[in-house]
Amino acid sequence: MSKTIISSIYCDTYEQTAVDKAVFKAINSLGVLDKIKPGSKILIKPNLLSDHRPDEAITTHPAIIKSIVQIVKSKGAVPFIGDSPGNILKGIENVWEKTEMTSIAAEAGIRLVSFETSGVKEMPVKHPTVKSISVAKTVFDFDAIINVPKLKTHTFMGLTCGVKNFYGCVPGIRKIEYHKMAPSPYDFGLLLGELYGILKDKILFTVVDGIEGLEGNGPSTKGIKRKYNIVCAAADAVALDTYITQCIEKNYKKNFFIKILKNYGDTDYEKFEFKGDGVANFNFEAVKLPITKILNMIPVSLARFAGKYIGRFLWIKPFIEEDKCVKCGQCLKSCPAKTIIKTDKGIIYINEENCISCFCCHELCGYKAIEIKESIIAKLFIRLKKNNK
Ligand code: SF4
Ligand code: SF4
Repeated sequence: MSKTIISSIYCDTYEQTAVDKAVFKAINSLGVLDKIKPGSKILIKPNLLSDHRPDEAITTHPAIIKSIVQIVKSKGAVPFIGDSPGNILKGIENVWEKTEMTSIAAEAGIRLVSFETSGVKEMPVKHPTVKSISVAKTVFDFDAIINVPKLKTHTFMGLTCGVKNFYGCVPGIRKIEYHKMAPSPYDFGLLLGELYGILKDKILFTVVDGIEGLEGNGPSTKGIKRKYNIVCAAADAVALDTYITQCIEKNYKKNFFIKILKNYGDTDYEKFEFKGDGVANFNFEAVKLPITKILNMIPVSLARFAGKYIGRFLWIKPFIEEDKCVKCGQCLKSCPAKTIIKTDKGIIYINEENCISCFCCHELCGYKAIEIKESIIAKLFIRLKKNNK
C-alpha cells in the first residue's frame, strides 16, 4: 500500500512568484497533478470566514488562490471559486471584494460561486444528535474539489485547517443550527468528520495557506497574527490536519479531533512520508493555543451528559465589551442559543445562563468587541494542566 504523503514547503512571503513556486512544489510532490482532467469543472474552496482583508490573516490569501487557479487552467480544466462565509449579514459580494476574490476572478475570467442560493442536498450522517446535514447543492455539480484552508487556531475546535474548512459547504444560517444540535466540541467534531466523509471522493487535494495564520483565540479578529512560513499539501485532509496538529501541539495522539478523524482518513503519523522542507524550517515554536482549549480536555461523557452541572463551576464564556460594541447585530443573529439580548436602550449583552460556549459570536464579531472569560475553577484547571505539561 502506498504511503500517505505530506508535502511542506517553506515560504515567508505572499509575493506572487514565490507563492507560485511554493504551491506548485507542494502539489507536484504529491503526484496528483494529473488528476486535474482537461475540461473538468474544479471547485476551489478557500476559507472566507468573513469580510476581512488578506493582511489580517483570517481568510485564505488571494496569492495562494491565484496560484491554484493558474495550475488548474494549465491542465485544461475550468476553475471556480466558491464558499459560504460564516458572516452572512454583510453579503457575499462584500466578502468576495474584501478578500480580493473578485479581482482574481475578473483577472482570470472565472466565476465566483455562492453556496447560499443553490439550494441544499440533505445528506444522512451517523451522529448521536444529528440525522442529516444540509450541503449546498452546487458543491455536487463540480467534478472535483481543491481545498484551500487557512492555518488558524480556533476557540471552539482548537484548530481550523483541512477538514474544518468544509463546514463552509453548509450554506448560511444552517451552520449555526448545527452548533445547537451538536453543542460540545466532540459532537461537533463528529459532524465535521461525517461531512468530510460525504465529500471525500470529490476532493483532489488540500493546500494549506500557512504563510501567515493565527494563534491564540482565533479564528477571527481576536486571534494573533503569526507567520508560520509554510505551504503544506496532502491528498488526505485528515493526514494533513494530523501533521499540523503535531506541529502545533507536539502530541497529536491526545487531540480529541484527530481521534475522531481516525475514522475518516489516515492519522498514522509515524507512517507518513514527508516531502519538501523539514518541520524545523517552519515557525511552530511555542504556538499560543486558544484559552478555550480546556473545553476539549473535559471527558466526552461528562461534557455530553452532565455539561450543565459541570458548567456551573467550570466554564469559559464570551462577554461583550460595551465600549467596543457598535451594535451591528451580527452576534444576535449568529447565536444558536438565542441568548444574546438587545435591551430597549440598544445595549447588547449575553445572558450567560443559556450560553453553550460555541463561540460563534466571538468568531463573527468584526469589531473585536467580544472577549472570553473563565470561571475561577476553569482558571485553576488551566494552570494545573500547564504545570503538568
Ligand atoms: S458585540 Fe460585536 S457583533 Fe455583537 S453587536 Fe457588538 S459589534 Fe456587533
Ligand atoms: S452567546 Fe456566543 S458562545 Fe454563547 S451560545 Fe451564543 S453564540 Fe454561542
